[in-house]
Amino acid sequence: MIKILIVEDESGIVDNIVYALKTEGFEAHWVGLGASGLDVLAKQDFDLLILDVGLPDMSGFEVCKKVRIFSDIPIIFLTARNEEVDRIVGLEIGGDDYVSKPFSPRELVARVKVILKRTKKSGSRDEKEDGLFKIIEDKAKIYYLEQALELTRYEYLLLRKFISQPERVYSRDQLMEEIWSSPAASLDRSIDTHIKSLRSKLRVVDSSNDPIKTHRGLGYSIVVRHEY
Ligand code: CA
Repeated sequence: MIKILIVEDESGIVDNIVYALKTEGFEAHWVGLGASGLDVLAKQDFDLLILDVGLPDMSGFEVCKKVRIFSDIPIIFLTARNEEVDRIVGLEIGGDDYVSKPFSPRELVARVKVILKRTKKSGSRDEKEDGLFKIIEDKAKIYYLEQALELTRYEYLLLRKFISQPERVYSRDQLMEEIWSSPAASLDRSIDTHIKSLRSKLRVVDSSNDPIKTHRGLGYSIVVRHEY
């Protein structure tokens, strides 16, 4: 569930925003002071921040500056006036977008979706969007770090098998049996050969990373996320 924090002191506006966000399946939390917003953000993870510029205890711009010290969360400002200066200040200090009051909650939700998409966090958190690989089954294509790989049939089948169960170690025998149509006709070595060419194709995309792991005497596995 995408979690959105709203920092806004006018409860009438908050009610509308919360309702519109929940209707679209977002989880919405609300606080009325800049200080409370900073407090909550420091303790919990949120996917996006909707930040009023005119708060009772400090300006939304100040809140934004403080948030940017520890977080790159997307921020949409709510400004009271349709002033160019607010917009520019907001974006210069690290905001991602702004909406001027009065606005329709639907318009705001549309902006929220655009920003989330831009920051690649739309959809469920569990989606493998931050993963290294993306498989387009009906085109028999695999993307590695957003780049389409030119794979042979067996390379494709091998890679797809690995990705289907990240971290799982497959022995050469298992791979043979599950992928090759006539395993008996192939030599065990050929798995290693395909893995080798697969690795070199992945290395062309990113030479600093080798997602295919060799487990000596056991087989191979794959890492599908960045290792930090
Ligand atoms: Ca306000």
